[in-house]
Amino acid sequence: MEDNVGRNLDLFNRAQKTIPGGVNSPVRAFKAVGGTPPFISKGKGCYIWDEEDNKYIDYVASWGPLILGHCDKDVNEAAINAIKSGSSFGAPTANEVVFADMLCNHFDSIDMVRVVNSGTEATMAAVRLARGFTKRDKIVKIAGCYHGCVESLLVSAGSGIATLAIPGSPGITEGTVKDTLIVPFNDESAIKTVFADYKDDIAAIIVEPVPGNMGVIVPESGYLELLRKITKEHNSLLIFDEVMSGFRAHFKGAQGKYNIEPDLTCLGKVIGGGFPVGAFGGKREIMNQIAPAGPIYQAGTLSGNPVAVAAGIATLQKLTNSVFAQIEKQAEKLELGLLKEANKAEIPVVINRQGTMMTMFFSNKPVKCYDDTANSNIEMYNNYFNLMLSEGIALAPSGFEAAFVGLCHDDEAIDITLKAHRTCLQKLKKGNNNE
Ligand code: PMP
Repeated sequence: MEDNVGRNLDLFNRAQKTIPGGVNSPVRAFKAVGGTPPFISKGKGCYIWDEEDNKYIDYVASWGPLILGHCDKDVNEAAINAIKSGSSFGAPTANEVVFADMLCNHFDSIDMVRVVNSGTEATMAAVRLARGFTKRDKIVKIAGCYHGCVESLLVSAGSGIATLAIPGSPGITEGTVKDTLIVPFNDESAIKTVFADYKDDIAAIIVEPVPGNMGVIVPESGYLELLRKITKEHNSLLIFDEVMSGFRAHFKGAQGKYNIEPDLTCLGKVIGGGFPVGAFGGKREIMNQIAPAGPIYQAGTLSGNPVAVAAGIATLQKLTNSVFAQIEKQAEKLELGLLKEANKAEIPVVINRQGTMMTMFFSNKPVKCYDDTANSNIEMYNNYFNLMLSEGIALAPSGFEAAFVGLCHDDEAIDITLKAHRTCLQKLKKGNNNE
């Protein structure tokens, strides 16, 4: 639409005056990849449109939640019906019980669950609970895993912290992070060493069992088993942050795929169907320590919000095992197509995919931990990202993130994506040859 030309830039310029960096969450700003972020006006299925009426196939999917696609009829209907009865009560509602039952039934490791408003809140509370329960202070965190903007976990974090090359964050005191111990992912000897050094001072390991915030990384055989074994041996807790991997890496989360029961699980994204929801849950004995059942405090005015919970229930009702399998098939089709074209173009790439989340790294060696991601060709990803965007394919504006395939990425969408991919690889190749 002629009238709309330049509208994204106008909005971004205006936004920068009143919103830090022009965005309400850092990686949206395109700082790593350059340029102006499109301002999104609407979405339908796997498509989004910006304020200039450009249409994109969306693989960001609100950073994972929209596994059923934008404006899913049933999810929208559930949310609209809920709001007709009231937007928030600050009192218990029947649907919260339904939602909790669904989450507890879905994950064998979860006996009880507390619903919050975001993934950050879930991990923050899980860490407090682990410390309160074990009466210990130290937390083992994995380099490159991102657990939201929780103070004590913003050390060697992936996602936006890695994207913007920020070492942590000013404003976080030394005292806050002194009990956070960092080890690389997929490194068994580092885990053994940290437990040998700190023995029974460790309250918990918190890990994305299938990390998505240093790009998607797949746990090597035996790694998650070791985390389970060593935490048991030391009476520490194992916290799986499945905010991204839950209902993404596998229908039953990474814990279902690898058949490992963590003590606590953090959830978010998909379980809210695009509304602000997070949750943490686990063994009854531990969860009963949360107030008001126990002394460990956690609270939220809008927690279990009726509209968000209705959307979450509708999403989980629709996302059956067979629907998940159907989505995963499309993700595999995309993965194989991307690889085939890259091979044809003789551009070395590594694609890590688990279930419906994946990352294509420009790398000629396996990507197994944060350093491998950081050593992949991030500049080439950034160029590729911009080329793909101009072909109408919206990927994450960072080489440290995942692409999310959903129910609406049908064969047509995948074919369009692969065609764009082919074109962009050719352009990249030409660019490289001209240098
Ligand atoms: N944990 C993981 C694994 C995540 O990917 C994220 C968000 N990307 C969070 C926690 C934080 O969730 P939120 O942004 O909803 O606070």
